[in-house]
Amino acid sequence: MAGEPQDDCLFCKIVSGTIPATIVRETGTTVAFRDINPQAPTHVLVIPKAHYQDAAALAAAAPELAADVLRETREVAQEEKLESYRTVFNTGAGAGQTVWHAHAHVLGGRGLHWPPG
Ligand code: AMP
Ligand code: ZN
Repeated sequence: MAGEPQDDCLFCKIVSGTIPATIVRETGTTVAFRDINPQAPTHVLVIPKAHYQDAAALAAAAPELAADVLRETREVAQEEKLESYRTVFNTGAGAGQTVWHAHAHVLGGRGLHWPPG
């Protein structure tokens, strides 16, 4: 069912604490943790605790939860003292999505080129 934890999902395991992560923020509905393979000096992932396979599914099924995720990207950026930063939702394999639990990347601490590759 939409939103239910998935046994085979890496990020559901981070939510449950089965797999460790460097958690930087947690709310009732979201978790933010450092990316294991950072692409910038600050690279934090913000996820909903509930499982949705990607940002599109999250936005369609639970827009208030999607807003929680977006709000948390701002909180992370403030805590990390980022003046500029980029929020990315890779959606679909062709866009580079590799983990099928919706997540926002928060990237900052270096110059970020536009457009991205
Ligand atoms: P994406 O390619 O947009 O699906 O992003 C998935 C991200 O999850 C990548 O940037 C990975 O480096 C990151 N990642 C994978 N496993 C872990 C983990 N155990 N802890 C933290 N980040 C992870
Ligand atoms: Zn999941």
